[in-house]
Amino acid sequence: MKQQFNKKSFLFLFVLLLVSLTGCKSNTTVEQDTLEKVKRTDKIVWGVKYDTKLFGLMNIEKREVEGFDIDIAKKLTNRILGENGSAEFVEVTSKTRIPLLKNGNIDAIIATMTISEERKKQVDFSDVYFAAGQSLLVHKDSDIRDVTDLNEGKTVLAVKGSTSAENIRKHAPKAKVLELENYAEAFTALQSNQGDAMTTDNSILLGMAAENTDYQLAGKKFTDEPYGIAINKEQNEFQQALNQVIEEMKQDGTYQKIYKKWFKEEPKE
Ligand code: GLU
Repeated sequence: MKQQFNKKSFLFLFVLLLVSLTGCKSNTTVEQDTLEKVKRTDKIVWGVKYDTKLFGLMNIEKREVEGFDIDIAKKLTNRILGENGSAEFVEVTSKTRIPLLKNGNIDAIIATMTISEERKKQVDFSDVYFAAGQSLLVHKDSDIRDVTDLNEGKTVLAVKGSTSAENIRKHAPKAKVLELENYAEAFTALQSNQGDAMTTDNSILLGMAAENTDYQLAGKKFTDEPYGIAINKEQNEFQQALNQVIEEMKQDGTYQKIYKKWFKEEPKE
């Protein structure tokens, strides 16, 4: 009887130990020092867009993701880890990017992401690396000239988890907002007349309009959307390393070169 009790309690303790160890493992993923981890593994896992022309778009033929965010991420990786360091890319959407970062699936987000006070409650940001602003995309025959034309009866398409979906409710309170999963879906919805306009950053809309000449931007930007690289909280050394390289790239012309490659003009600042 006594022996049986001991066996049982041993089994119980063993299971308890296993459970707590598994618990610890998932915690360390997020709590560990990101800079130390990326140096140890010799790679940085970046969360990037796969459906956003100019910033992060999958090239099906090459099976590679391409864009401004991608080139900046590759340079940051090489300068932080050295030429042998590798940049790995994982697809995120506006909705999935913060959960993927917080779960430890990615080390950083570089994905057209606006630095906002709301998001700062969950993640930290690098310094600004791109200045965008929210605008509208409409068919070229549309009567919508700017955001004030989005009145009652109009439907505007936005993407879940984006600042655009929130901002548009303030700037066009009477319009109906339809939220899609990603930018590819939102643009398809616009093309099939499920909405009168689509809204997100001018920089993203310009990429769509360039490829689809039946569509154009309507009106000027009505918000400021400064892009930053998002990382987990309390990763001060990683944050400093990113900021230092961004500054270096601006000083030595690398940033300007990448900017010109994608946007065919000099950076505004
Ligand atoms: N910059 C805006 C945002 O962070 C819109 C682009 C996006 O959804 O990534 O939400």
